Amino acid sequence: MASISPGDPTPAHAPDLFENETAALEKARGVHAADGADAEALHQSLGALIDHFERLMRETRRLIGRSDRAEREMQALAQQLAHRASHDALTGVLNRSAVIEQATRMLKERSATMIVLDIDEFKRVNDDFGHPTGDAVILGVVDCLRRIVGERGFIGRVGGEEFTVLVPGDDHAAAASLAERMRAAISEARVVPSLDRRITVSFGVSHNRAGTGFDTAYGLADEALYRAKRSGRNRVEFAGQ
Ligand code: GH3
Ligand code: MG
Ligand code: MG
Repeated sequence: MASISPGDPTPAHAPDLFENETAALEKARGVHAADGADAEALHQSLGALIDHFERLMRETRRLIGRSDRAEREMQALAQQLAHRASHDALTGVLNRSAVIEQATRMLKERSATMIVLDIDEFKRVNDDFGHPTGDAVILGVVDCLRRIVGERGFIGRVGGEEFTVLVPGDDHAAAASLAERMRAAISEARVVPSLDRRITVSFGVSHNRAGTGFDTAYGLADEALYRAKRSGRNRVEFAGQ
C-alpha cells in the first residue's frame, strides 16, 4: 500500500493508493482463472495476498485507533468550550449569563432563595495593594463560598466583585443561616493569608416562590444588599423587611 502523509501536496494525478494490492489481486485472479495452474504459482499468489491482507489489517487498526483518539480529543475540546462559555475565567464559578439562565430555569419550577453579595470597600484593596492582590481576594472569597455552599446551591459571578448564590427550596431559616455563615466565615478568615486587611462582604437575600422571574428575585435581593451597604456593610439584609 502506497503511503501518503497528510502534508503531501495533492498531485495532479492522484496515485492509486492500492497499486501494489491491486497488482497482487489481478495476479491471483489470473492464477485462479487459469485451468491447471501449477502449485508453485498458486502458492506464490496466495502468499502475496496474505502479505497484503495482513498489511491492510494492520493499517486499518492503526487508522481506527487514530480516529478514536481524534474523536475523544474533539469531545474534550467541545466540553472545554462549553465550560468556558458558561464559567467565569478567574474563579471557575458560573458566569453572569449562565447564572441568569440557571436561576430562571430553577425559579420557573420551584421556590428558591437568591443571595446577592458584594465585597466591601473592594476598590480600596485594589488601590492599596494592586490588582493582582484584588484578584487573590476574589479567589479567597469564592473559596469560602464554595466550602459553605457545597452542594446546597450554585454560585455565580454576576459582576466584578459581586456574586450570587441560589439555593433551591423554601426553608427560609436554613437559607438565611447559610448567608450568615458565609458572612461570618469571610470576615473571620484571612481570605488571603499574606494580606494585612480584613475583608468583609455584604449580603442581600430574597426568598422567592416558584414562578418568580429572575429580574424580580434579583431586584429584591439587590435592594436588600443596598440596605446592608447603607447600614454599615458586613451584614445580611432580607427583602421585604
Ligand atoms: P462597596 O463596599 O460599596 O461595594 O465599595 P467597593 O469599593 O467594593 O465598590 P466599587 O463599585 O466602588 O468598586 C468595585 C471595584 O472592583 C472597582 C473595580 O475596579 C474592582 N474590580 C472589578 N472586577 C475586578 C477584578 O476582576 N479584579 C480586581 N482586582 N478588581 C476588580
Ligand atoms: Mg463592593
Ligand atoms: Mg460592586
